[in-house]
Amino acid sequence: MIEIYFNYLVYGWIAFAIITFLSLFFIKQPYGRHASDKFGMMIDNKLGWIIMELPSPIVFSIFFFLGKEPHTSMHYVLYALYMIHYINRSIIFPLRTRTNNKKMPLLIALAAIFFNLVNGFVNGWYLGNHAISNEPIILVCLGFLLFIVGFYINNKSDHILLNLRKDGDTGYKIPRGFLFEKITSPNYFGEIIEWTGFCLMNIQIASISFVVWTLANLIPRARDHHQWYLEKFSDYPKQRKRIFPFLY
Ligand code: NDP
Repeated sequence: MIEIYFNYLVYGWIAFAIITFLSLFFIKQPYGRHASDKFGMMIDNKLGWIIMELPSPIVFSIFFFLGKEPHTSMHYVLYALYMIHYINRSIIFPLRTRTNNKKMPLLIALAAIFFNLVNGFVNGWYLGNHAISNEPIILVCLGFLLFIVGFYINNKSDHILLNLRKDGDTGYKIPRGFLFEKITSPNYFGEIIEWTGFCLMNIQIASISFVVWTLANLIPRARDHHQWYLEKFSDYPKQRKRIFPFLY
């Protein structure tokens, strides 16, 4: 019975991601360079990142460890990959940002907390209560490789972006080198590769929903960033695509 409700919840969650994707072609996510006080009360940017991302590893862990399914070594590998990503995203990344005195709308933090609570629950509950799906070993290895490559691309790109600023600086420069020569948002491209790899290691409704949400959040944001660079910098390299090398 619980299983049926859970499946309905995830179908609804995927439908909500598709609606969000379509809406984001009309509304820019108002944080970072697109931040706006039109969305109500503002909070500190760094603090916002920590409080909005921390619910994900906490909720994921709770439901993973409460799960009834005997945990195999593959369960723990997937658990570890998720946690490595989120310890970086919720603690290390925010502490490294150079966004002194910058603010984000409280509404954005609340929306992200909601996303992370549901996504952490969906993925933690599923992994904790189900056997690992029986993917061919070649697919599991490919998924693992994609996760590692995606994690590397995501972190190296974020590292380049974070180092564009000197201490106290909060402005923007054109990022150069690495995949920035091909696309505007390699950090987002890396994130999409990561969760696609995670999904290939254990293909099921929860991990698929995470890939759909990652695409829904990051493709429109990459498009907005690309447009913003073109408007802001007359010398912005014209050959760069938005998020997928050679494609878009
Ligand atoms: P951005 O690329 O907008 O910014 C990353 C950081 O670099 C920010 O601190 C930003 O400062 C700074 N920065 C960006 N561009 C420049 C520039 N040209 N010059 C100087 N500094 C710059 O990424 P997001 O903040 O949107 O996302 C951060 C991470 O979170 C990414 O790795 C992303 O993949 C991940 N993420 C994942 C989501 C998912 O659904 N899985 C959703 C959203 C993000 P500032 O904030 O001042 O602009």
